[in-house]
Amino acid sequence: MSKKIAVLPGDGIGVEIIAEAVKVLEHLKSEGLDVELSEAPVGGAGYDAAGKPLPDETLALVKQADAILLGAVGGPQYENLPRELRPERGLLGLRSELGLFANLRPAILYPQLAEASSLKADVVSGLDIMIVRELTGGIYFGEPRGIRTNANGEREGFNTLVYSEPEIDRIARVAFDIAMKRGKQLCSVDKANVLEVSELWREVVKNVGAEYGEVELSHMYVDNAAMQLVKWPKQFDVMVTKNMFGDILSDAAAMLTGSIGMLPSASLDANSKGMYEPIHGSAPDIAGKGVANPLATILSVAMMLRYSLDETVLADRIDAAVGRVLDKGLRTPDIMTAGGRQIGTVEMGEAVLAEL
Ligand code: NAD
Repeated sequence: MSKKIAVLPGDGIGVEIIAEAVKVLEHLKSEGLDVELSEAPVGGAGYDAAGKPLPDETLALVKQADAILLGAVGGPQYENLPRELRPERGLLGLRSELGLFANLRPAILYPQLAEASSLKADVVSGLDIMIVRELTGGIYFGEPRGIRTNANGEREGFNTLVYSEPEIDRIARVAFDIAMKRGKQLCSVDKANVLEVSELWREVVKNVGAEYGEVELSHMYVDNAAMQLVKWPKQFDVMVTKNMFGDILSDAAAMLTGSIGMLPSASLDANSKGMYEPIHGSAPDIAGKGVANPLATILSVAMMLRYSLDETVLADRIDAAVGRVLDKGLRTPDIMTAGGRQIGTVEMGEAVLAEL
């Protein structure tokens, strides 16, 4: 039976970069990949079409889908809307409605782009880390939370950092499974020297690790992990961590690569259904100019093939095609390097297709 892919371009450059990623999917379809694509509005486009950022029809479509390809949401014209109608609410709604608890954030630096990083080329060239971040639990969701007045009459803010054993167990399994498909090294990041929740985290990750004898498991405190990421990031293969630590570490790791237009991401549920999207936003400053880099979105298609559609060979082909395009010196403005040839969004999409 054909797999259903919901395509949600969203706003700004989302529309332009998704068009190129869809061409890649259509090409693979013409070669025999059995997928069915359906498009729907989300974010500001959802508000324009149906008065809310996650329209009912879009929600129905994504619930039926095997995988979702998302562009980006947001734009200045929506910034004054009430909070619940803002484009970003569409994204949060998708994550919670679909139970997407595992966020996969690769930080890959193609050697051809090493000079784009703020770190020395030999420190980052060939970098390939996968950060697995728990996305639906921890301090961002824990109750109780709020701002109250204490016994001294002073205002105080409070949040709750809580993880249940099953929540830790399921994210650990995702991370071990990914490590098995990669370099078989997993570093679990916590703060077990200070936080009880991290003590439990470490214990549960170790227990799950006993079932994955081939994976070399290590543990690191989050402060040290932050230092090691900028000191010698190539020591890491897969990292797993809770929501807030992952939020911070994955952005730091992404910036090691120096090019936001190159990085894909995935958010998975318990059955490997996933939402795939570039890590960048809708870039209103360049929207409509035909200069946005579509590679993060095309690489998101590769992640979709790898993690939701079990098509590893096709995923590898896309990754390799992107590598060859970079070898040829073809560059959108955001990744321009000395001696490169500058091209636009559509030409970059076509260059990847030609290499495929
Ligand atoms: P942004 O990621 O959209 O842009 C940051 C900078 O990177 C801009 O200069 C932009 O031109 C550049 N950039 C981003 N993607 C690029 C690409 N593919 N090619 C070339 N250059 C690229 O972040 P921002 O400016 O802080 O936010 C703009 C809007 O996007 C806001 O409304 C924000 O809320 C939204 N946003 C959405 C998401 C998402 O949909 N997942 C994520 C972040 C921000």
